[in-house]
Amino acid sequence: MANQDDKLKKVISHSKEYGFVFPSSEIYDGLSAAYDYGQLGVELKNNIKKYWWDAMVKMHENIVGIDAAIFMHPTTWKASGHVDAFNDPLIDNKDSKKRYRADVLIEEHVEKIKIKIDKEIEKAAKRFGDAFDEEQFRSTNPNVLRRQQQIDEINNTFKTAMEQEDLAAVKQLIDDLGIADPDTGSKNWTEVRQFNLMFKTELGAVSGDAGIIYLRPETAQGIFVNYLNVQKSGRMKLPFGIAQIGKAFRNEIIARQFIFRMREFEQMEMQFFIKPGTQGEWYDYWKQYRIKWHKALGLGEDQYRFHDHIKLAHYADAACDIEFNFPMGFRELEGIHSRTDFDLSSHEEFSGKKLRYFDPESNESYVPYVVETSIGLDRMFLAVLSNAYNEEQLEDGSERVVMNIPPALAPVKAAVLPLVKKDGLPEKAREIMEDLKYDFNVFYEEKDAIGRRYRRQDAIGTPFCITVDHETLETNTVTIRERDTMTQERVAISDLHSIISHRVSMRSLLEKAK
Ligand code: ATP
Repeated sequence: MANQDDKLKKVISHSKEYGFVFPSSEIYDGLSAAYDYGQLGVELKNNIKKYWWDAMVKMHENIVGIDAAIFMHPTTWKASGHVDAFNDPLIDNKDSKKRYRADVLIEEHVEKIKIKIDKEIEKAAKRFGDAFDEEQFRSTNPNVLRRQQQIDEINNTFKTAMEQEDLAAVKQLIDDLGIADPDTGSKNWTEVRQFNLMFKTELGAVSGDAGIIYLRPETAQGIFVNYLNVQKSGRMKLPFGIAQIGKAFRNEIIARQFIFRMREFEQMEMQFFIKPGTQGEWYDYWKQYRIKWHKALGLGEDQYRFHDHIKLAHYADAACDIEFNFPMGFRELEGIHSRTDFDLSSHEEFSGKKLRYFDPESNESYVPYVVETSIGLDRMFLAVLSNAYNEEQLEDGSERVVMNIPPALAPVKAAVLPLVKKDGLPEKAREIMEDLKYDFNVFYEEKDAIGRRYRRQDAIGTPFCITVDHETLETNTVTIRERDTMTQERVAISDLHSIISHRVSMRSLLEKAK
């Protein structure tokens, strides 16, 4: 693959060409950062959801699911801290009328200085050859030291300004550093202001502030407010978890990189309620379980890494991300957070309702602590799709694009293909379809030469092609072609079910994730 940027472009156009993902309302030239899942995309997405749901809910006796409303009482978002603190600092360029995140402009400036340091190091490494000691060079070379000092000063000034909510100081920093609009070079900036990422709308006929409600920016709060309902009605004992899959909305200032950062997206979140003091062990448990869940898919062990948060959010006492090697590099795919009793306590305070657990063992009542796992469904989709996309050079000199989607997640499990459109082969193929369709998503196609049909199935990631030929009519056997190896085997029709089941089994994935 030429380069990573190129790969993302190819994945985007392949997705559109074959019906995985389309730009939203494309006939009106699309809407930025909104996408629609097509006929194959929805199948892949449903399979990812099922893998997550089964691993979290079905495989854990003490985890149950819910599906809460997207609209919630507005006080929810006061209590969660989103009304006051779910902000990004933004700045507009007066000439280009473009809007940027002030923190991103500053980070990009710092990144440029880092690149200069790297170049300096590269040059020295070439000059000194084997004798080069990078550590020593970093700590003694005057140019590197001067640049590193610049970086530290910028980071400190920015951090202090943000902590003191001094947006004028952030603007001053942008001016002092001479940061220009990356598109036009203009330095004619507005003031910096905080921009809340929640979408607002109005409830029914009530207008003005009283009627304002928000589209939820995360699904987690729907779980917190239902903690007691589920605990009581399900007679749940600590530790127990509540899982949910649903839409979330964030008015991201810069939304880009395809479905990686959207304004409307889907989350799969699980809040695990525990006894205070046990958060360390549960945090470790969920870190291990979640990484195993990812690795069971076989996308490559080296495609993941943990990133521990040093600067913690106001609600957390430990937090990390599972990062995935996307075409744009390692980026956050999932977050695991030890949230203490922040959310439940805050909802107690704002609602005036007790959100406690009576512990029959210790005879005391307390607000449970929470460890949460939170993964973006769309980011997971992008991880699977971009990892699956492969251009292969074949022995006969031809090329094929194959989507090596893990078979359990593949949108279509098998294509049934009569070799020719006559002699009773289509009828026989339909008979096979009829039987398989109750258990698998199967696809029928009779148009074009068989080789072309195979290629089309490779391009959408179908694990098996079943070809019905004249011999089929005599012996009740078919050839079955496997996507990754392209090997073909003649098998009895009566064996098809078990061959496909074995390969596309969700069960074996779940067993690996255990
Ligand atoms: P980021 O730092 O990338 O903005 P975040 O730390 O704000 O993400 P969380 O609030 O922890 O994200 O949300 C949990 C998960 O939801 C993320 O790990 C990610 O997979 C997903 N997610 C968050 N924002 C978006 C978005 N705008 N588009 C798609 N997925 C998202």
